[in-house]
Amino acid sequence: MQANYFIRKVINKFSLLPKKKQCNICDSKVYDYLPLPDHYQKNFLKYGFPYTQKGAFETIDTDHFFCPDCYSMDRERLYAWYLKKNTVLTKNNRLLDFAPSASLSKWIKKNFTCQYVTADLFMDEVDVKTDIEDMKVFDTESFDFVICSHVMEHVNNDIKAMGEIYRVLKPGAKAIIMTPILKNFDGVDEDPSCTDVAERWRRFGQDDHIRLYSQKVFTTRLKEVGFTVESITAGQIPRDYALKAGLPANAVLYVVTK
Ligand SMILES: [Zn+2]
Repeated sequence: MQANYFIRKVINKFSLLPKKKQCNICDSKVYDYLPLPDHYQKNFLKYGFPYTQKGAFETIDTDHFFCPDCYSMDRERLYAWYLKKNTVLTKNNRLLDFAPSASLSKWIKKNFTCQYVTADLFMDEVDVKTDIEDMKVFDTESFDFVICSHVMEHVNNDIKAMGEIYRVLKPGAKAIIMTPILKNFDGVDEDPSCTDVAERWRRFGQDDHIRLYSQKVFTTRLKEVGFTVESITAGQIPRDYALKAGLPANAVLYVVTK
């Protein structure tokens, strides 16, 4: 395990150093957030993925990634900030969380009284097993909010998946749709037929990714299926809050409206 990760884990657990940060998901006081494990960096080098410099992607702070207590990721803390500030979801509302993460799921259940539905094609612990490209199990216009985080880079047909989110949302309802976005890039590299692990690492930066987006292509596709796209940047988040909650300084949060 890398030294930086291990040292911060120990400091967070045992040190009497002041804990000035606080996770907005589990509320734990934090000395510092943990870096992304170096498994990724090692594979980037091994397979020749070219975009390894810090800040190459939007919304990832590889140095302050996990909460040392609940292991929420930086982007999940970003979603919690947005949801708390901007959404009213009461018991008559339905929220769909596709490919949910454990810590954010727990936080949503604690903070909102809405009907919270989790879905995924492969995860066992979700409420509904379904393919995001064909969610016929859900009625049209049946959700008040959708969270779909880091799914589009995995699916064969992302436009179909985006279209399905559009279909199940009520008119005027919003969704958070996020994916890795490479900065200083205009196009898209995608190849659903690519199954070779080494090639996936080299082109897409992960062994189960088949697509690498630019902001331009990602937002254009969202607009093509009918969404209005809003991008909320780190500058719109109070700085004190962002530092305390460990939100990425290069955050771009995509909130779409039907
Ligand atoms: Zn936490």
